[in-house]
Amino acid sequence: MGADGGSIPDRRDLVKTRGKAATADKAVSRERFFYCALSKKRLAKPVVADPLGKLYNKDAAIEYLLDKSAYGDGEQICPYINGVKDLLTLNAQPNPDEGEGKAPFVCWLSLKEMNGAVPFIALRHCGCVFADGALRAVLPNLAKIGETAEEPSQVACPNCTKTFDPTSSSAVLPIYPTQEVQDVLLTALFAARAVAKANKKRKNGKDKEKKEDKGERATKVAKLKNDRSASGSPAPAAANSSLTSSVRAQLAEQEKKRLAAQAGMSDAVKAMFHNGDTGKKGDVADFFGRTYNRYATS
Ligand SMILES: [Zn+2]
Repeated sequence: MGADGGSIPDRRDLVKTRGKAATADKAVSRERFFYCALSKKRLAKPVVADPLGKLYNKDAAIEYLLDKSAYGDGEQICPYINGVKDLLTLNAQPNPDEGEGKAPFVCWLSLKEMNGAVPFIALRHCGCVFADGALRAVLPNLAKIGETAEEPSQVACPNCTKTFDPTSSSAVLPIYPTQEVQDVLLTALFAARAVAKANKKRKNGKDKEKKEDKGERATKVAKLKNDRSASGSPAPAAANSSLTSSVRAQLAEQEKKRLAAQAGMSDAVKAMFHNGDTGKKGDVADFFGRTYNRYATS
């Protein structure tokens, strides 16, 4: 049969189609490392990566942030980027070989081309870009995405020497990772944003509370002032102070009496125990208020 227009595709046709599709996928995955995801122009410094590891020329990414409709498919490509803080400026080594079909960038360590053939990663703290395998050969404790951190430590970037903690799960950003890893990164991005939002809300809430407290106090003071002037009565503070002064006067009076009594008493005590002349003549009261003539005893 066949040649009647109604042929059923056999296994050979399916394999051929699948082969074609795979080739097309490969071409697309390769192109991503050559061209800006937004402008589709060849990647050239300065280049930025978004939180999912997609690559852009920095000017195109900024243009998109300023005008989300600047590129027709922008909202399909990177709807999750909100601002410049979502972009990591990459320090990628331009490919010294600018020949036909050559990738724009190479690994700082291995000089392998960043063309999709092997996985590439960027260090988040400095933006330096390496072939994943080459960097891990130098830094074996470099964390993998989604892995929990081991003992924190500090190592130097083998390219720019800036130190960072390689065990932090956010130490590296993979460039165009698998869809599975992209999903992990997107979840992490939204989680981080939720935390930041909650912290901001809590901080704002505290500030508002403080303001309300201050406002309440000011209202109370104003009310107090109003009450005082309305009633014409002395201000509580003034009443307090006059009360205090009358109490103080009473206390001072008592103290004066006490001191006087003490002085009298000490004189009497002195008189009782000293035979010498105290300079005072005449009768003095003794401890019990009795009077006696000191000269009578001597
Ligand atoms: Zn670096």
